[in-house]
Amino acid sequence: MPLQEKSPQSSFELVSGLEIHVQLNTNTKIFSADSASFGALPNQNISAVSLALPGALPKLNKEVVAKAIRIGLALNCSINQINHFDRKNYFYADLPKGYQITQDNQPICVNGYLEIQLSNGSTKKIGINRIHLEEDAGKSIHDQDDNYSLVDLNRAGVPLIEIVTEPDIRSSEEASVLLSEIRKLVRHLNVSDGNMEEGSLRCDANISIRPQGTSEFGTRCEVKNLNSMRNVRRAMDFEFGRQVEVITGGGKIIQSTLNFDADKGTTSPMRTKEEANDYRYFADPDLQPIQISDSWLAKIKSAMPALPNEISKQMITEFGISKADAALFAEDLDLLAYFNQALPVVNTKKSLINWLIGPVRAILNEKGIAIADYKITPAHLAEAINLVDDKKITQQIATQQLLPAAETEKSKSIAELAQALNLLITDNGAELGGFIDEVLNKYPQQVDAYKKGKKGVLGLFVGDVMKLAKGKADAKKLNELILEKLK
Ligand code: ADP
Ligand code: MG
Repeated sequence: MPLQEKSPQSSFELVSGLEIHVQLNTNTKIFSADSASFGALPNQNISAVSLALPGALPKLNKEVVAKAIRIGLALNCSINQINHFDRKNYFYADLPKGYQITQDNQPICVNGYLEIQLSNGSTKKIGINRIHLEEDAGKSIHDQDDNYSLVDLNRAGVPLIEIVTEPDIRSSEEASVLLSEIRKLVRHLNVSDGNMEEGSLRCDANISIRPQGTSEFGTRCEVKNLNSMRNVRRAMDFEFGRQVEVITGGGKIIQSTLNFDADKGTTSPMRTKEEANDYRYFADPDLQPIQISDSWLAKIKSAMPALPNEISKQMITEFGISKADAALFAEDLDLLAYFNQALPVVNTKKSLINWLIGPVRAILNEKGIAIADYKITPAHLAEAINLVDDKKITQQIATQQLLPAAETEKSKSIAELAQALNLLITDNGAELGGFIDEVLNKYPQQVDAYKKGKKGVLGLFVGDVMKLAKGKADAKKLNELILEKLK
């Protein structure tokens, strides 16, 4: 057998750190009362502050700080209880002040980590270097007029946080898992909609390579503005291959900022370090340092919901369900809330879980709605489940007739409704006996065949009796009754 040639890529290791921008979902902007909503007509959400009219002063939106703290706590960061804003100075048409208000050397959160789960089953901690607060810039539009560039300042001043990881990432899989975990967290904590298509979550990937087994970092390149999980992986894989080619070809990596072309799947240079801007950061004199009191911090901490990983672990140990099933609850707070409201009413917790991930999910999918829009209250669902578990109604009739009826009939309890609609299982032995006789009389040859050992025909009898009983019989009990008669 020929020896397989070792690819040059396998002798190098990828090293990466991400800078993740998250747009916070506050109603108003970070330093003004202008609406921060997405999708308004151009320049609708602007006032003196967004326009940077002379003399306009910023006033900090407290909710922005609270949301940054929540995400910092979820990422196991220390909260800098005194931190401040800096000016990052540069000139651009979509930045009317001539500087962006951001945080440089004293960000709000530092020194955290996030544990991620990889596809091979292992877990890994990725360090979080810092999280800082900043404002977004406006948007220049170059393709709507032949002679002019247009500018839309709706986005100017929309609050962002930037999460900067340590260079702990070693593969494109780790990068995309990290990003998807962060998206889950920001949604779970209600700090952002995490929508990558609309740019609420976007990231820059810093990438370098080094020979396997060495510890020194190589020179890095930064790929800007990756706006989907897939593009993060593609850009990283491409850039890794490119850098390996440069190095093995005897070249050197030049520290630079790169664009990613999503059509071609390639990176191309924007600027090198020599051309990099000097932003002349300094503390913004228009804004007081932020002081986070112990009591406010404690209040935010105590209001934190359980995090998805904790919920998932708890559900696995408490109810013995699979990781995939637990994830359904951990990643959908509405489903979790529904579950918790139904719990006190249901007799068997495991049944409730099975119903929510089985029949109820199927009903919601068919209707194309979310659990929050389901017209059956958690208590009513729990009552229906109890009826099924107590063999008072079949699961099929409960899902196909009782629950749909309960969506509109709210005045009765579930049991009353099942009674009124005549859906309960017939435990009237005489009635069932009558049906059985009827069926057995209908099939004398098959009865004969059964007695001679052809046990397969039993299904035919059960099916027919079930039809006569309009499905309202417990299949197991029916089986027993028929067997009895056949003796
Ligand atoms: P700067 O302030 O110059 O942007 P930072 O130290 O803040 O530099 O790093 C920016 C990002 O680059 C961080 O996510 C960090 O983890 C990552 N990074 C730093 N050095 C490297 C390297 N050699 N290779 C890959 N990523 C790196
Ligand atoms: Mg940076």
